[in-house]
Amino acid sequence: MKAIAATKIFDELPPMDEVLARKVTVLGSTGSIGVNTLDVIAHVRKIHGADAMPITALTAGNNVRLLIEQARAMKPALAVIGDEKQLAELKAGLAGTGVEAAAGRAAVIDAASRPSDFVMVAIMGAAAIEPALAAIRRGVVVALANKECVVAAGAVFRDAMDKSGAQVLPVDSEHNAIFQVLGSGDASEADLVTITASGGPFREWTIERMRGATVEEAVAHPNWAMGRKISLDSATLMNKGLELIEAHFLFALPPEKLAVVVHPQSIVHCLVSYEDGTTMAHLSAPDMRTPVAHALGWPRRIPSPSRRLDLAALGSLVFHPPAHDRFPALNLAIDSMRSGGMAPTVLNAANEIAVQAFLDRRIGFLDIPRVVAAAMDRDMGSNGRAGDLESVLGTDARARVVAEEICQRVGT
Ligand code: NDP
Repeated sequence: MKAIAATKIFDELPPMDEVLARKVTVLGSTGSIGVNTLDVIAHVRKIHGADAMPITALTAGNNVRLLIEQARAMKPALAVIGDEKQLAELKAGLAGTGVEAAAGRAAVIDAASRPSDFVMVAIMGAAAIEPALAAIRRGVVVALANKECVVAAGAVFRDAMDKSGAQVLPVDSEHNAIFQVLGSGDASEADLVTITASGGPFREWTIERMRGATVEEAVAHPNWAMGRKISLDSATLMNKGLELIEAHFLFALPPEKLAVVVHPQSIVHCLVSYEDGTTMAHLSAPDMRTPVAHALGWPRRIPSPSRRLDLAALGSLVFHPPAHDRFPALNLAIDSMRSGGMAPTVLNAANEIAVQAFLDRRIGFLDIPRVVAAAMDRDMGSNGRAGDLESVLGTDARARVVAEEICQRVGT
């Protein structure tokens, strides 16, 4: 198996002017990662001048107001709203700015296909698969914040990257940390790669208490300000399971070389151990602008407004093993990684549906892993190759229908 993450080693770093002249596209600019990306670019422009990191395209799903505000401030060539009904509002909001406006799913994929040097994939969920592939097929630098597309379609991404020569950079904090510790996506010499988990808002809750958990309690992450879906995945620990699968594909690591440790402070993001007994760790304050800036500047370093680490103020760092009995989602993800094939695609799709059903208050918190487990037990008729996009999208669609049926039964 080959790594998806870039394994390119530089004999000589490119000049800083070249890095600052990169044309950037941000897919999902109105989300948590998207906003952080534009914040880092605005910071870079303050220091290096308003022409730094010109923006080719910004895309959003529904939040047309924020998209208009961002496009007026950052002056991209193109702004795309996923929801076609909002095109008129987008056009009106951008009148006189010279920014082209477009709408719809095809327009989001078109934005990813437009010539640029760097694409940040910050759309939430499997909806990112096709836009991300469009960027990878252009053979440019693609920063992947989105983890669901790697989990659902890892083999497809690997093939596409192989053909185009794209450089894929992990932005998810743990994976960006692994990439930095390794110096590239080559993990072949590592004995064990451990990713840390904060444990989420229910780290110390009993099962009984979790049974009555509300949406508000479940999305209130103790350390990170993130979108609702990933916040909820952190509460079930499915997020950590998805991240194990993400690491498996990004760094070509077999399941037995991957581990999770709970670290409530979210300061250490990964630990990479070697056969001589050395373990190397990556530390930073929990602020996504740090991995975003690392990707935007790669292979150089650029300034970021991120929070800085103060270990003396922290005093100590705490670690303990995950409670698999209270957080069954983690084992479901590990099982699907071990099974391989379409199992991670089904896991991801069922989880997206169950998460939405909980957010809509149709099922309870403990029902989320139950729905995923029940969907994984059903035959999806997924005989296709995991490396074939049509088969992956077909399995994803079928798993969503099955999971929705299960949610309806559970919710009655
Ligand atoms: P958010 O929900 O905050 O943002 C998602 C972005 O995607 C928004 O711009 C949203 O548009 C857009 N979007 C959603 N659905 C669609 C769609 N169908 N078509 C087009 N655009 C769409 O998510 P996050 O920023 O939290 O997360 C994004 C990805 O990054 C996820 O995969 C997550 O797992 C990953 N990630 C996030 C981290 C974080 O700190 N937030 C950390 C590590 C990884 P709109 O809001 O306009 O509807």
